[in-house]
Amino acid sequence: MDAVAKKIGFIGLGMMGFPMASLLHKAGHALTVLDAVPATLERFVSEHAGASAAAGLDAFAGVDVVITMLPNSDIVDATVLGQSGQRGLINILRPGVTVIDMSSSQPLRSKVLAEQLKKMRLSFLDAPVSGGVKRAVDGSLAIMVGGEKAQFDAHQALFLHMGKVITHVGQAGAGHAVKALNNYVSAAGLVAAAEALLVGQKFGLDPGIMTDVFNSSTGKNNTTEHKVKPFMLSGKFNSGFSLQLMAKDLGIAMNLGESMGWQMLLGKEVLNLWAGAASTLDKSADHTEMYRYLQQIEK
Ligand code: NAD
Repeated sequence: MDAVAKKIGFIGLGMMGFPMASLLHKAGHALTVLDAVPATLERFVSEHAGASAAAGLDAFAGVDVVITMLPNSDIVDATVLGQSGQRGLINILRPGVTVIDMSSSQPLRSKVLAEQLKKMRLSFLDAPVSGGVKRAVDGSLAIMVGGEKAQFDAHQALFLHMGKVITHVGQAGAGHAVKALNNYVSAAGLVAAAEALLVGQKFGLDPGIMTDVFNSSTGKNNTTEHKVKPFMLSGKFNSGFSLQLMAKDLGIAMNLGESMGWQMLLGKEVLNLWAGAASTLDKSADHTEMYRYLQQIEK
């Protein structure tokens, strides 16, 4: 347990948020949780003694920190700033409270959000994560944090319950920028690995053997090491990170590139592929389904 247990609000108990909130509960923090799906909320509270289910945002009035782990910036902004006449966290939280957005959100919007919160004497950190569901469950995520260094230092202990490598990467929005760019590299690497495996099979190569060779050679990447065998070649396609979310992250990275006046020559091609898959496949498709999608569009 931390020396001083904080009252924490946690919003978004999905594939990632549920296990992350669970680790904070295990560390002894008092949790107030919220999710748009009532069954998810009920399941969390029934599995975590003492955690309370928020009926709405007003339930966060007394917390010290609010963490959001939501699908995108639209939902984060609506939650923090309010929408259609409904109050947001900005109108509810006490001065001095810190909002930590751990979702993969848009860096330029996060910068604006930080400024708006500051006007209300609230602090903001963007602290997106990398590592997927497995590492969210065992508390070994990589967490990249943007915001004031003093705020980062003050919340290090909290982050260490959820992650192993916690890096302060710059001012507000910087965490979200690094996250989107990281996922661009990851998405491009996945497509390269999948294309290589598919063309290799056409040639008569065994994809399992190819993967072993890549992993002991210079073609090794996160996909060849952690995704090809368990999720692609096995036919399971259930890594826990949706294809829609990967396409969203790529959109953020390309948007950032454009805002910086950068052409993103390869990035545009990669985004086209992922956006095409996202509009073709079922909304629930895992991002590892890109392997099957590439196979199908070649037929
Ligand atoms: P998810 O869709 O499983 O979870 C999102 C949760 O937010 C859902 O439970 C949903 O009901 C809830 N929600 C949506 N709108 C809400 C609202 N207005 N109020 C309260 N709850 C609301 O997504 P996830 O995979 O957990 O991802 C969450 C974030 O983390 C995303 O931004 C994603 O890009 C990022 N991320 C995901 C992974 C992964 O492997 N899944 C890895 C790194 C980062």
